[in-house]
Amino acid sequence: MKFKEIVKTVFFTEILKGMALTFKSMLTHAVTRQYPEEKRPAFPGFRGLHAFAIEPSTGKEKCIACGLCAAVCPSKCIYIYTKEGEDGRKVPEKYEIEILRCIYCAFCVEACPVGAIVLTEHFEYSDYSKEALYMTKEKLISNWNKYMAGEKGKQYFEKFWHPTLNDYREYEGQPVFRKKEG
Ligand code: SF4
Ligand code: SF4
Repeated sequence: MKFKEIVKTVFFTEILKGMALTFKSMLTHAVTRQYPEEKRPAFPGFRGLHAFAIEPSTGKEKCIACGLCAAVCPSKCIYIYTKEGEDGRKVPEKYEIEILRCIYCAFCVEACPVGAIVLTEHFEYSDYSKEALYMTKEKLISNWNKYMAGEKGKQYFEKFWHPTLNDYREYEGQPVFRKKEG
């Protein structure tokens, strides 16, 4: 056994080093979040539960029933049934999404020419039944009213397409990543 190793063994230096590291970590800010009480705000482009956008000036859905979202969806989980609206234009009679097949790629959001389908910041929607996770137009509109109405809905596309560095800041008391020591 080399002299250095003998010193290490006799004086428990490795154990002391480990204990020092433990003690140091005890004094640093914890990165663990007390979820669900403590939630971190979502970053721009977060892909949560779907919603069907409502035009605030008319109170009607924005969708023009073009079918692009359904065509681009890689999971083929968007179903649109159209009819003729009061002004002769095509409108979505039914708009349904089979959430359990969705892969949250956001292609539907990107493809939509009028910003009618969005992915909200809401992600806590597990359920025991398939039906609860089958989104009808009414449920999607209700999602919009619950999670995107008002200022949030206005900011959604701006942040989705043009996020700034400030949007990715570390939130107070909740570091996103542990900072490198030293
Ligand atoms: S997020 Fe992707 S998989 Fe889900 S509905 Fe939209 S296009 Fe389809
Ligand atoms: S949600 Fe958008 S892409 Fe899909 S049918 Fe309506 S307008 Fe077209």
